Amino acid sequence: MRRALVTGAAGFLGSHLCEHLLARDWEVVGMDNFITGDERNLEALRENPRFSFVRHDVTQFIHLAGPLDGVFHFASPASPIDYLRIPIQTMKVGALGTHNCLGLAMAKHARFLIASTSECYGDPLVHPQPEDYYGNVNPVGPRGCYDEAKRFAEALTMAYHRHHNLETRIVRIFNTYGPRMRLDDGRVLPAFIGQALRGEALSVFGTGQQTRSFCYVDDLIEGIYRLFESDEVYPTNVGNPREMTILEFAQKVQEAIGSDVPLEYHPMPENDPKVRQPDIAKARELLGWEPQIELEDGIQRCLDYFRRRVQEQLKP
Ligand code: NAD
Ligand code: UDP
Repeated sequence: MRRALVTGAAGFLGSHLCEHLLARDWEVVGMDNFITGDERNLEALRENPRFSFVRHDVTQFIHLAGPLDGVFHFASPASPIDYLRIPIQTMKVGALGTHNCLGLAMAKHARFLIASTSECYGDPLVHPQPEDYYGNVNPVGPRGCYDEAKRFAEALTMAYHRHHNLETRIVRIFNTYGPRMRLDDGRVLPAFIGQALRGEALSVFGTGQQTRSFCYVDDLIEGIYRLFESDEVYPTNVGNPREMTILEFAQKVQEAIGSDVPLEYHPMPENDPKVRQPDIAKARELLGWEPQIELEDGIQRCLDYFRRRVQEQLKP
């Protein structure tokens, strides 16, 4: 049986990855300090005897007994309002946290995978974004703390690969959604669904003409697992290439919920990328992977989860 460490296990993607690894017969150690995570994301995992959990801040040295075959480094604030609130922790987990996880992978002779991001492309000047585009990131803007930490993490990962021959994988994740996202994490899907379910106006930033491409979590995790099992060392985009404007997305949410709440326009956040769409030709060819779940279906799959969260929120 293979044994993995998943950092960020109490978060949205980390908890889904743990579930996926357990379903594939791995033994899984989850690690998290709950800075943006939620204990409830671990509930189902804790029922599995092959899952154990360690509360730890990965920016501190990681002691872990026993062998490891995989280190999946997912710990990091991921939503703009989170990393704007805790920019220094964000830089530390991308830099020191990645360093500790790479050191642990070296010591255990484990394969390492880093959850990187489409933010590496910044406000892109090439569209859609292929992996060989170097990006257009403002290092000193408000999003710099996240974007540059991830770019540093990618560079450090390649240095460990080249200098120490460590087996490494880098996935560039594009906007992903699904159950276990925090209702108040500020990302556009939980924000709009929460607002529509509460009968509030949808908060559109700017004119809503900026675009994003949304991937359902099950599709994403399958792509990441295939990348982990592949031989590919260089960054690989995993995301859904179906692109739409935020206004079109607002309409999709309205249709899914059967709501007709109005739109409310807010100022555009600084350096908010104007377009984003993954070029997934590499993942298609290399991993035989492409997303299967359409946005309309994906929204339906997470509506019950968000309804429960809204009900809890509205309880007196
Ligand atoms: P999340 O906030 O739900 O999960 C991140 C988890 O990491 C949280 O549980 C948090 O408590 C934990 N964490 C943060 N700092 C830590 C530290 N120092 N020590 C231990 N635990 C720590 O976010 P998510 O959406 O699940 O994102 C997971 C990973 O995927 C992140 O690395 C993020 O950058 C990357 N990513 C996500 C998306 C997306 O659309 N969700 C897109 C691109 C990249
Ligand atoms: N957005 C919006 N209203 C919200 C939250 C986000 O219009 O309440 C927009 C945001 O400006 C961005 C897009 O939706 O253009 C996606 O934002 P999100 O925070 O989900 O992720 P990002 O892709 O910017 O990291």
